[in-house]
Amino acid sequence: MAIATIAIHGGAGAIARASMDADKELLYRQALLQIVASAQALLAAGGSALDAVTEAVRQLEECPLFNAGKGAVLTHAGTHELDASVMDGRTREAGAVACVGRVRNPVLAARAVLETSPHVLFTGRGAESFAEQQGLEMVENSFFSTPERRAQLEQAIATQQTLLDHDGTLPPDRKFGTVGAVALDQAGNLAAATSTGGMTNKQAGRVGDTPLPGAGCYASHLVAVSCTGTGEVFMRTLAAYDIAAQMEYGGLSLQQASDNVIHEKIPALGGSGGLIAIDASGQLVLPFNSEGMYRGYAVADELPVVAIYREES
Ligand code: ASP
Repeated sequence: MAIATIAIHGGAGAIARASMDADKELLYRQALLQIVASAQALLAAGGSALDAVTEAVRQLEECPLFNAGKGAVLTHAGTHELDASVMDGRTREAGAVACVGRVRNPVLAARAVLETSPHVLFTGRGAESFAEQQGLEMVENSFFSTPERRAQLEQAIATQQTLLDHDGTLPPDRKFGTVGAVALDQAGNLAAATSTGGMTNKQAGRVGDTPLPGAGCYASHLVAVSCTGTGEVFMRTLAAYDIAAQMEYGGLSLQQASDNVIHEKIPALGGSGGLIAIDASGQLVLPFNSEGMYRGYAVADELPVVAIYREES
C-alpha cells in the first residue's frame, strides 16, 4: 500500500513576512490547514487521488482568500474569467475549462469534462453550457467579486500593470494566488488539479497555463504537478510536463527535475512562481523562486504542515 500524501498551494509571489498582517496570516494558515486535513481524511478513508485533488481545489475555490473561484482577480474589462484543470495519472485522462465566468466551481467543470466528455478542454460559453448540462451550480459573474479585487484592478489599471496576483505594487494583504493540489493515494495512483482567476488586469480572452495539461497541471504514473506563476512562461516551457519528461527520459529525481524548472528554466525566460509535485514513491517537493508560496501538505496520518515564507520548511 502506498503512503497516501496530499499537497496544496495557494499561489507563489512576493509574500514577505515583514509586510504580512498577523490576523491575515492566521486566516491563511487556518484555511490551508483545514483544507489539507480534509483531503488527508479523504485519502485515509481509501479515497482516490483524483477525488482528493478535486475536493481540495474546490474548497480552495470557495475560500475568498485565494485567486480562484470566489475571490478571483478581475480582467481589464472588470469581469472574472476563470481557468481550471484536473488530470488523473492512473489513466492519463485530463479535463479543463478556460475563460468561464458563470460556473461556481471551475474545477468541478474540469472534472466533468474528464469524466463525461471525449474532449479535454472547453472554453467560454461552450464550457458554461457543458457545465450547466452536467447539473453544476451556475452563478452570476459578480458572485466571484470581492471589494479587495475591485481595488486591486483599479490600482493595476492606474499603474498600467498586468499583475501576477501576488506580485507588483499591491499591498501585501492583496497578493493572493492561484490554487492547486497533488496527491498520491493508497492504491499508488497520482493526480493533480489547478484553478485560477489568472492575472489582474489581463485582457479579456487571455488564457494562462492553468487549464493546459502539461503546462500548469500534469499527472502520469510517475509524477503529479500543479504550478503557479507567470502563466505565459509556464506555457512556453511546458513546465509541469517538463518535470515528468526529465524523470522519464533523463532519469532525474523529482527534486532535480523540479529544481531545474523552477530555479533555471522559468527564471531564464523572465518568469517567476512555484509548483508542488509528488512522485509515485511519495517523494514530495514544493519549490518556488519567489519570496513565498502559500502551501501545505500531509503524509499518511502525520500532522499536516502549512507554510508561507521561504525560511519555513
Ligand atoms: N499561472 C496563473 C496564470 O498565469 C497565475 C498564477 O499562478 O497566479 O493565469
